[in-house]
Amino acid sequence: MYEKLQPVAEDPILALMARYRCDTHPNKLDLGIGVYKDEQGKTPIMQAVSSAERLLLAHETSKSYIGPAGSEGFNRLMAQLVFGGDHTVIREQRVVSAQTPGGCGALRIGAELLASCSPTGRIWVSDPTWANHRPLLAGAGLEIREYPYYDAEQRTIRFSEMIDTLNRAEAGDIVLLHGCCHNPTGADLEPAQWRALAELIERRGLMPFVDIAYQGLGEGLDEDAYGVRYLADYLPEMMVATSCSKNFGLYRERTGALFLIGRTASQTERAGGQLFSRIRSHYSMPPAHGGAVVETILDDPRLNALWMSELNAMRERIRYLRHQLVDRLEHAGVAGDFRHIRHQRGMFSFLGIAREQVVALRKQYSIYLVDSGRFNLAGLSNRSVDYFVDALAQTVGT
Ligand code: PMP
Repeated sequence: MYEKLQPVAEDPILALMARYRCDTHPNKLDLGIGVYKDEQGKTPIMQAVSSAERLLLAHETSKSYIGPAGSEGFNRLMAQLVFGGDHTVIREQRVVSAQTPGGCGALRIGAELLASCSPTGRIWVSDPTWANHRPLLAGAGLEIREYPYYDAEQRTIRFSEMIDTLNRAEAGDIVLLHGCCHNPTGADLEPAQWRALAELIERRGLMPFVDIAYQGLGEGLDEDAYGVRYLADYLPEMMVATSCSKNFGLYRERTGALFLIGRTASQTERAGGQLFSRIRSHYSMPPAHGGAVVETILDDPRLNALWMSELNAMRERIRYLRHQLVDRLEHAGVAGDFRHIRHQRGMFSFLGIAREQVVALRKQYSIYLVDSGRFNLAGLSNRSVDYFVDALAQTVGT
């Protein structure tokens, strides 16, 4: 039976990671996959996470099933983290939450439900967007359209073109938005742009689906949630996918959440029932461990404070590296304009170099970036930034 199956094109980011692993160059540099790394190039377990795991090991009493929605405590605390404790949607009981297997699980199951109720079955995604958005959303049966987002020449958001395009979307179309730290561009909407977008979404009768996978890694936990909180306040309905992979460093534990916001408490509850039934028929229930770790941290003032200070340190390190890199590129006189890297947010930016130059960096210097020139700032360190700048000066010219 399997002989009928065609070979699959490799996932560009995972393939890059595999090639990096086999590379023996002493200065090899992985700036591809979106994983936070410290000054030593390690992705450590956060101390708050280790402490929570020790507590769980000592006190966990059962491994029995947790149910399709996951842990009630995790869901409650995550809704407070994303929307803020006293948000209207929480007070009015207009949000249903589900613990999911990572942000991907949230995106996929959210898309499954939306595909079953959107009258057009269409979703608009930014050009460009994270490579896995398409398979996750199209796999659920949604038809994908693109709205203009990033101007690679000007290194800014093409906001008026984005608005013009979405103004032509049909009522019932879904719009996927990156809550913060846009992947791959690092270019985020400003508050005034979120407000204009909310007005458009309401006027056109669109459905927002916000993917917020990097809360806390841009400007701060509350600042990064501005857009999602504003939309939730302004609009009657929306869907939100979040991830604990980056801000809790729980990548392989597959921990995330999906929030469904409805017009009224009773409509939300009914839609929630449909959501849980879809979960049951897909993966039945989320894995428990990562969610239990997050719940333990958010529920304990001491661990919560420790987690926040670790998250702040991660965010500050990325911001420092953004400035370090641009300072050194400018000092070395590397050809090109890199100023956008300073103020963009989160782990990623585009370098703005040609594909051949990306390939040359890989072949000659063992520096791994995604072909588009997207690179992960958190993959750099004080030590490796000079190697990177030298390699760029040789490859791109001065
Ligand atoms: N959305 C975006 C934009 C992402 O970059 C990621 C992770 N790379 C995710 C969602 C989901 O990540 P995970 O499933 O690992 O939580």
